[in-house]
Amino acid sequence: MSESSTPSRESGQSRTCFCGLTANQFTATTPMNDGRRFFKCPRPEDIACHYWEWRDEELPAHVSMFIHTQKISLNAIRKERNNLKKTLDEFLGSNASDLKKVSCLEKKVSNLDSNLKRWKKFLLLSWAFFVCFVAVKTMC
Ligand SMILES: [Zn+2]
Repeated sequence: MSESSTPSRESGQSRTCFCGLTANQFTATTPMNDGRRFFKCPRPEDIACHYWEWRDEELPAHVSMFIHTQKISLNAIRKERNNLKKTLDEFLGSNASDLKKVSCLEKKVSNLDSNLKRWKKFLLLSWAFFVCFVAVKTMC
């Protein structure tokens, strides 16, 4: 039987395998036994004694399938959440870059404003000087 699962140890209920070792406890993830716990020899497959025993009673098939489909839905939701987080991070990252560009452009505009004010003053003074020059010239 192939069960993908993760080992865990819980105090109170333990089993000893044929090697004399404390058996690892796993939780089945197959459709017909999803969530059902079992014991298994802790050694690697090639040297294990092949001790294997269910810890939990068998659930009715519809309950096992219900649990399994709920887990699939949960995983799909987790995946969607992770994708949205990634999209949000990318958006915030690119937005930060855009904010730097905007800040840089605002500085350039501010500098251009200062230059424009200086040029206006210069033109006004030049115009005033020209008017005075013409006025003095016409008087003479
Ligand atoms: Zn063993």
